[in-house]
Amino acid sequence: MRYVSRFRLIRVSMLVIVLATPALLAQTRQEIQFPDIMGYRTLKCDLHTHTVFSDAAVWPTVRVDEAWREGLDVISITDHIEYQPHRGDIPTNHNRPYEIALPRAKSLGILLIRGTEITRDTPPGHFNAIFLDDVVPLDTKELLDCMAAADKQGAFIWWNHPDWIPDKKGWFDIHTTLYEKKYMRGIEVVNGDDYYPDVHRWALDKNLTFMGNTDIHSPSMLEKSTPDRHRSMTLVFAREKTLPALKEALMAGRTTVWYQNQLIGRPEYLRAIFDAATDVTDIDYTQDGSVRFALRNDADVPLEMERTGRFGPKSVTVPPHAVRLIQAKVPSSETAHRFEYVVDNFRAAPGQGLAVCLEIPPQITIEIEVETQTVN
Ligand SMILES: [Zn+2]
Ligand SMILES: [Zn+2]
Repeated sequence: MRYVSRFRLIRVSMLVIVLATPALLAQTRQEIQFPDIMGYRTLKCDLHTHTVFSDAAVWPTVRVDEAWREGLDVISITDHIEYQPHRGDIPTNHNRPYEIALPRAKSLGILLIRGTEITRDTPPGHFNAIFLDDVVPLDTKELLDCMAAADKQGAFIWWNHPDWIPDKKGWFDIHTTLYEKKYMRGIEVVNGDDYYPDVHRWALDKNLTFMGNTDIHSPSMLEKSTPDRHRSMTLVFAREKTLPALKEALMAGRTTVWYQNQLIGRPEYLRAIFDAATDVTDIDYTQDGSVRFALRNDADVPLEMERTGRFGPKSVTVPPHAVRLIQAKVPSSETAHRFEYVVDNFRAAPGQGLAVCLEIPPQITIEIEVETQTVN
């Protein structure tokens, strides 16, 4: 009898373990690979997501699981304050999505930011406020009161999907007011699958922080994130992976957007990513006056380069995590050969790529003087 009961005990405890094992253990995390730059850590962030607490279809913890699986470091759940179509089933509680998701985020090492979406007709449109202590004070009628309440909590606020309604798009007086009061510090150049070239120009001219997010409402169907298929996201260059460091970086505008096969951002950050992600090796001069070298790309984005200078093939594409051999005739020279290109998919401005230069050291000819002496 004793043997039987012990056997039963083992079976029961195994069952408990099986039931307690989260489905997540069967999943894997796909790391996103972009280099750290300028002494900062490159954090992969989706700061605009929704749950059943507003108009989306998933529970808050599911957003955390998706983010972990897809290699993100940071998310914010930003449910609408003013729009809750499920309120008959799920009572209005603006802070609950964050509170529900936080233990899951902590256990998986995802940095979770408390946020919300301020939702007004266009214009002015929709805005996200994050780094809030309490969402409730933002539930006010007047937009400027709402913004002031967010600002009082030290929020970082940006304008969402400005071109969402094409026949109502544009920069209106209310946007100037929000900008001059320093409430609005960022802007979504990318929202989901949409990129807005005119907003890209505003971000450059007005020194607004470049934001790119999913604004995801459905469950994420990505089993894994790959360079070919990934969510739109903001790369934030922060001193460390903490909320204060992230906020400092967003306030300072240190971001770049990863959208499809493109990076969109200020030229200085695009250049730093290019420099950190690429390497020129195996430089070799041939007898016929050609130089050959390998160009390596260690990032999750391809390099789609068009020649602007004298040397090199007209087009060069280096896929993510690949090496491309480049060979070109060059004149003999005592200085470096400048292979000048524009990286088309590193968007430094609307319709404009990033100008780069690969400097290839000249061939070194060693002349050895041999002194001969005649011994008598
Ligand atoms: Zn919105
Ligand atoms: Zn939204």
